[in-house]
Amino acid sequence: MEGSLTARDRVGIQDFVLLDAYTSETAFMDNLRKRFNENLIYTYIGTLLVSVNPYKELGIYTKKQMDIYMGVNFFELPPHIFALADNVYRTMISETNNHFILISGESGAGKTEASKKVLQFYAVCCPSTRLLDNVRDRLLLSNPVLEAFGNAKTLKNDNSSRFGKYMDIQFDHQGAAVGGHVLSYLLEKSRVVHQNHGERNFHIFYQLVEGGEDELLRWLGLERNCQNYRFLIQGECAKVSSINDKSDWKTVQKALTIIEFSEKDIEHLFAILASVLHLGNVHFGASALGYVLSTDTSIKFSSNYALELLGIPSNMLREGLTHRKIEAKAEEVLSPFTAEHAKYARDALAKAIYGRTFSWLVNKINESLANKDSTRKTVIGLLDIYGFEVFDVNSFEQFCINFCNEKLQQLFIQLTLKSEQEEYEMEGIEWEPVPYFNNKIICDLVEEKHRGIISILDEECLRPGEATDFTFLEKLEEKMCGHPHFVTHKLADQKTRKTLERGDFRLLHYAGEVTYSVAGFLDKNNDLLYRNIKEVMRQSKNSIIQHCFNAIEPDGKKRPETVATQFKNSLAGLTEILMTKEPWYVRCLKPNHCKQPDRFDDVMVRHQVKYLGLMEHLRVRRAGFAYRRRYEVFLKRYKALCPDTWPHWKGTPAEGVQRLIKHLGYKPDEYKMGRTKIFIRHPRTLFATEDAFEI
Ligand code: ATP
Ligand code: MG
Repeated sequence: MEGSLTARDRVGIQDFVLLDAYTSETAFMDNLRKRFNENLIYTYIGTLLVSVNPYKELGIYTKKQMDIYMGVNFFELPPHIFALADNVYRTMISETNNHFILISGESGAGKTEASKKVLQFYAVCCPSTRLLDNVRDRLLLSNPVLEAFGNAKTLKNDNSSRFGKYMDIQFDHQGAAVGGHVLSYLLEKSRVVHQNHGERNFHIFYQLVEGGEDELLRWLGLERNCQNYRFLIQGECAKVSSINDKSDWKTVQKALTIIEFSEKDIEHLFAILASVLHLGNVHFGASALGYVLSTDTSIKFSSNYALELLGIPSNMLREGLTHRKIEAKAEEVLSPFTAEHAKYARDALAKAIYGRTFSWLVNKINESLANKDSTRKTVIGLLDIYGFEVFDVNSFEQFCINFCNEKLQQLFIQLTLKSEQEEYEMEGIEWEPVPYFNNKIICDLVEEKHRGIISILDEECLRPGEATDFTFLEKLEEKMCGHPHFVTHKLADQKTRKTLERGDFRLLHYAGEVTYSVAGFLDKNNDLLYRNIKEVMRQSKNSIIQHCFNAIEPDGKKRPETVATQFKNSLAGLTEILMTKEPWYVRCLKPNHCKQPDRFDDVMVRHQVKYLGLMEHLRVRRAGFAYRRRYEVFLKRYKALCPDTWPHWKGTPAEGVQRLIKHLGYKPDEYKMGRTKIFIRHPRTLFATEDAFEI
């Protein structure tokens, strides 16, 4: 507990539940700001950790700090991500059950950093043997590899996660980390072929071009100049001051070796990256009629490199990129593409190659992290997914990312209220629920069977040739009209102040309104790759490509699932995984839009506090019982305050606690005795008890 009153005034209160006076947003904000100004970025709401991104190194993640937090009771030290990690770990050991840590917040709020700190804490603090050291290293090093391939600079964050990641860390009965498993969710692969202004492609491409050894680049036919590659420069910011591509390249290379990628794997992986860059440079000239000129020298030049690297027989790819194969009367006819069509085919191929290689990479990492021993393990899951994001123009990708954040918010709502209610019920204690905004209505709007936006989108995707992005929008407008969270340009003025362009629709998300442009929705949801291109890829000598394109494809008759439906299903799967585990929360807040230290933008933070439901969570904690402790734990901590219980109490812990609080003068309405725990209504009661030590 933070000591004297003056100190408390200066640094605020370390647990919002202990805020004496009231639960107003103003008091909440005052406390948060006060602490932020003192570089105290962490504050609790009970066991939930609120974190504000400091945008500067605070020196609070050292080994020494880890040692301080290791094995110490949660509330005895200032709030810290290590305290949470330690608490989860010790609960897992003592109760031999599974847990997960849900880290949420908008893009750039600090989720990935938080998840790395948790992993580091376990890697350093859990018992280990020499045998297990390499598991530990692999767990740690899987991060830079996944980040290199799955993160990119966006306008919101220089290291933005462009895929969702759920990682299980497995522990044996002695508490040693013995293995891990990663699940990845929907990589934003459109970034491979297109970047908005001020954004980059995935880090790994720049790392390769900047950091790759001369000999390697020569072999790959690459020049050490990002400006030469169309896929790297659309955002016009290949160089970023906060990123050192050269040294990151070294880290990734070392990591790949330690994770036990073979030399051949690594070689083939780099060949794939380079082939994507070469593909990006394939230009298509058009004839007077608009058809692609397959004799164009640039096609030959760049695609030759790509071909060679992918180990594909010459001419095959060029043909695949410029012609469609049509089967007519047992005969195959090649029909030329228009130049536009050829570009589309090229981009689809580049995205498919990268997307599938990313999945291969995750599998490979999982093989390396797999624990071969079959004895029962307990796990701590770490969920770090792309945060809620709003750009000037928002497309299908933002729609998926923001839907994912809705689902996680829904899970948070269900679990916090559910677990709270269950606990009171189990312990035989009455309580009154607190009203809150339930975002289920928005989740349903997006995902409901036959009626939700995803269903309507899928229906349109079933009408090739007839449906367009605009017919999709028309259907949405027709079916969603009147929904309180859906706005079309017809209704824009009534529901929100801002008008909408034609071609846009707006969703009122739990975290704020987002205007989506329908352009590209159908295409991205279909994610088609021409059959003859797939066939060409299957002939590749590159083992990774072979593996990626030979994986069993659903047979011709059954339609493959659309991207949105796949994503929806994988999120349902994730929810199922999480529901069987005990939840812990880290809520990350972004202090300003400029990625700058020491700037606390009140309006912006207040908005996040609101939509993350922090006030409601606080109210739930306070309306019920702010604190609960198992009798043994409570007695152990405070028995020195009562002569009857000190130094040894012979009776049951519950009786000991009765005796103790009688001595401390707790009033009957201040606490309740449950079956296994004491529940304390007001934080000040506990506060006074803590202070009693100091008298
Ligand atoms: P996204 O949803 O885009 O992936 P994110 O929530 O994962 O965003 P991070 O990548 O974790 O955001 O954080 C963005 C940047 O903020 C980091 O690269 C780092 O510079 C800074 N940052 C975040 N957390 C901390 C911290 N605890 N201490 C110092 N700097 C931090
Ligand atoms: Mg991230």
